[in-house]
Amino acid sequence: MFAKILIANRGEIACRIIRTARRMGVGTVAVYSDADAKALHVAMADEAVHIGASPVGESYLGGDRIIEAARATGAEAIHPGYGFLSENPGFVDAVVAAGLVFIGPSAESIRAMGLKDAAKRLMEKAGVPVVPGYHGEAQEIVILASKAREIGYPVLIKARAGGGGKGMRRVDSPEDFSDALSGARREAKAAFGDDRVLVEKYVDKPRHIEVQVFGDNLGHAVHLFERDCSAQRRHQKVIEEAPAPGMTPELRKAMTDAAVKAAKAIGYSGAGTIEFIVDASQGLKADRFWFMEMNTRLQVEHPVTEMVTGIDLVEWQLRVAAGEPLPKKQSEIKLDGHAFEARLYAEDPAKGFLPAIGTLHHLSFPEGAGIRIETGVRQGDAISPYYDPMIAKVVTHGQDRQEALGRLVDALLATKVAGSITNARFLAALASDEDFAAGDVDTGLIGRKQEALTVSASPSRGTVARAVATAAANRSLKSDDPWSGLAGYTHFHPIARKVGLKHGEQAIDARFTVRRDGRLEVAISDAAPIVLRAEEASDDAVARWPGHVTLFEEGYSFDFSVSDPFARAADAGDSASSMRAPMPGLVKVVRAAKGDMVRKGQPLLVLEAMKMEHSIAASHDGVIDDIAVEGSQVTDGTVLVRFAE
Ligand code: ADP
Repeated sequence: MFAKILIANRGEIACRIIRTARRMGVGTVAVYSDADAKALHVAMADEAVHIGASPVGESYLGGDRIIEAARATGAEAIHPGYGFLSENPGFVDAVVAAGLVFIGPSAESIRAMGLKDAAKRLMEKAGVPVVPGYHGEAQEIVILASKAREIGYPVLIKARAGGGGKGMRRVDSPEDFSDALSGARREAKAAFGDDRVLVEKYVDKPRHIEVQVFGDNLGHAVHLFERDCSAQRRHQKVIEEAPAPGMTPELRKAMTDAAVKAAKAIGYSGAGTIEFIVDASQGLKADRFWFMEMNTRLQVEHPVTEMVTGIDLVEWQLRVAAGEPLPKKQSEIKLDGHAFEARLYAEDPAKGFLPAIGTLHHLSFPEGAGIRIETGVRQGDAISPYYDPMIAKVVTHGQDRQEALGRLVDALLATKVAGSITNARFLAALASDEDFAAGDVDTGLIGRKQEALTVSASPSRGTVARAVATAAANRSLKSDDPWSGLAGYTHFHPIARKVGLKHGEQAIDARFTVRRDGRLEVAISDAAPIVLRAEEASDDAVARWPGHVTLFEEGYSFDFSVSDPFARAADAGDSASSMRAPMPGLVKVVRAAKGDMVRKGQPLLVLEAMKMEHSIAASHDGVIDDIAVEGSQVTDGTVLVRFAE
């Protein structure tokens, strides 16, 4: 086994690989860009090497620099993860030429499968069923159009260099062929620098079912069953599962046999995936599946296979790359239960899935039986515009599909992210959809139901009241135990305070009072006040972050920005050595004196301003050096409290 490997990737997959390497006693070297200097994968690895600026072209796609980093650190092998350089045969050649091991297939295997048309010709020869269509060399529009007519509409035009659903157009009738072809070509040229296409039969009610294969350098190849990735949005996977719902023994045998045959046909070594398209219009039939393409790397969705086979695919990758035989024979690889994976993204489903960026001010995931979270970020980390905005993969396992799916829904609803919008609620809605739950999923399901799956909700009055109470209480009591301070607050008299919040464009004006019984009263506009228990403004369904309060409710996260200038000052304006008045007013009560040792969140004085009384609490632990005099008038920015150094 290798003593040390370099991981030429970032995010969750880099972290995932490091974990297995560490368990196996293999040293790890991370690489990172400027934007990732403090990233989790860098913190986790034994060593880390800076490889350039934030854009991927200047860092994670820089093969030479990565190889140089491996040499400089004495790494013997390079794991590419997925994406980036993982399917770049030129990089594999360079790695091998540098005397290093590429943890993945040979450059020849990648080349053989790299272009969809050549791969299909190869598979056809090997006796693997391929989607009916034209994948020859000719590119003239008259030829392609006549091929399309022969195949029969609807057809799918695909970029031969395609990936990620780019350069693909469904065409329903001959009149539309020419426009669709130019569209696909333009997109393919821009994305892959190659505008050649193939034409395929568009499969009806298509399901995407893929088979995980593994080969070693001694000529063995096995499969690790199938994954169903039919839940797609614009040809991109959203939720994956293993095994495929409704799979029959006949179809499984036919598909896995074909997949192993495909792997053997190219002498494949390492982890790979054979993707098939299945016509499910009449249920799953053993003669209704066709080869689409092979991915010659570890897939994003590999954890579902790990959950149902108990096999660590990264461990197998390392063993095979180090020259060991496959750890198990086909007969020893067994299916156990069912697993799902949902891809949690920083994106806004209600706005057409617009990618989002932001700092993850709050990030927490549920823990428990059958739940596995794969992530490359921690609370406080940023989702930057440079990379894929995936936050995590939420993976669940159960004894059967129903149990695994129940766990997935629960896990998604309990996932809490503040600071960026996410697709968590959309994923939960999809996982709860009756057709999805019944296993009746084809690649068009999300598109057909998109509106219902992406409805956004408005916070209820009770939710708004909790947001107000949280913002109001915590603007003056920013301690870990806010209510200890509040009790003291009520010793003299309950103070009604104005609180201004915004939810989206909607302004919320409220009054907040701590009653003598310790309950919180929130009056929004002229409506009858809502009374809350103190805990309701501080439990774990609420996150506070500078200038904001986020409430988590059934998978939704409702964000409120705090327009109260006091809150802003408390969050941002105070320095470590002093606290300033956020607006002009009268110092009504002073509750601490020079020399006092105070705790963060402890009420120090009451300022009357804008006809309201505002409690000012210590911004941090410290000893008071100077404090404003009771009865004095202060202006905006006046130092109210100075702490001793
Ligand atoms: P890419 O490499 O861009 O991801 P694929 O060939 O893997 O492209 O296809 C992506 C998705 O497009 C598939 O998962 C499937 O949903 C859909 N698709 C591909 N080929 C067909 C087809 N012939 N008929 C219907 N849908 C298809």
